[in-house]
Amino acid sequence: MTIDTTALQREMIAWRRDLHAHPEFGFEEKRTSAFVAARLREFGLDDVVEGVGGTGVVGTLKRGTSNRAIGLRADMDALRITEQGEHAYRSQNPGTMHACGHDGHTAMLLGAARMLAEDGDFDGTVRFIFQPAEEWGKGALAMLDDELMDRFPFEEIYGLHNMPSLPVGHFETRAGPIMSAEDNFEIVLKGVGGHAARPHWGNEVLVAACALVTNLQTIVSRRLSPADIGVVSVTELITDGTRNALPGLARILGDARSFRPEVSASIEKQMRVIAEGTALAHNVTAEVSYTREFVPLVNDAALTEEAFAAARSFLEPENIAVAAEPMTGSEDFARFLDHVPGCFVFLGNGRHSAPLHNPAYDFNDEGLLHGANFHASIVRRRLPAMGQP
Ligand SMILES: [Zn+2]
Ligand SMILES: [Zn+2]
Repeated sequence: MTIDTTALQREMIAWRRDLHAHPEFGFEEKRTSAFVAARLREFGLDDVVEGVGGTGVVGTLKRGTSNRAIGLRADMDALRITEQGEHAYRSQNPGTMHACGHDGHTAMLLGAARMLAEDGDFDGTVRFIFQPAEEWGKGALAMLDDELMDRFPFEEIYGLHNMPSLPVGHFETRAGPIMSAEDNFEIVLKGVGGHAARPHWGNEVLVAACALVTNLQTIVSRRLSPADIGVVSVTELITDGTRNALPGLARILGDARSFRPEVSASIEKQMRVIAEGTALAHNVTAEVSYTREFVPLVNDAALTEEAFAAARSFLEPENIAVAAEPMTGSEDFARFLDHVPGCFVFLGNGRHSAPLHNPAYDFNDEGLLHGANFHASIVRRRLPAMGQP
């Protein structure tokens, strides 16, 4: 039996728009996860478990006799962004929107679940993993901490993200590092604030903070090897000063990206040296807190070849490309790759798509079937049914 893809496409569009109209922030995906679980049960999966790692859902589908198992993952959360779109299915939750296309990713994986449940042309176990809170970088860890690997074991995992500016029907990925680690930092400078007219009576922190923001730029330009990729971005500088009062307290916040743990460690080390040295030069104190939010996403070389082969089974060969270079965005999917090998891929969201996390962004429904096909094709390739090559 082969599923009617036109009907499935229509159904996926309806799911996607329903999810889009009802976006939920990370770990609050109650309606979304209930929606997902209800669909999976309708498709006749062998097992559907809700509440994995908070609001995560895992569906299990078994066919044949093989003991092999693979994981397919989608993310379900939305962002705290006010939508600008005018379409009929625009967000009904003010201040929250699906601005990263996770509504589309969820609908695609549901589509694949329906395809595989109906066609059943594979031998083994498929775990459909719907994770919460990708944007926070906490949802995958929450599922893993909830014993995901023991309760729903699998040997390899695949995931995808839509890509604005890449035409619909185009596919990209690459072996090795493809998305970066994200670290966050906060540096607190303390001195003595006072009257703007008499800086010499106190020990204000704003000049030190400005020097520090500039000095931090030497980490990438002068401390990292030119062969390594790193980004250090100061994103906020907040003081307790006011128009005629010099600040005694300044907070400098920011974000650093890298592709290797050694580079992340080196950025932190240099940041501490520069913060303390700059503070000393200005006679103030500095305290650095440095946290690691996302780990780098590293695709397995052999499974990346399998992902390319799966893409070739349903896309035009000229639309399948090796991503030119790693991206300094981050993805929670990387956490699963700490446990099993896998591959993360990108599918076009259209040349004219607004960027991800933009209030005018919308997932492109024309790409839905490609995503469902990718998930289903990789399963058929990795868990071939008896009698198939
Ligand atoms: Zn996002
Ligand atoms: Zn995303």
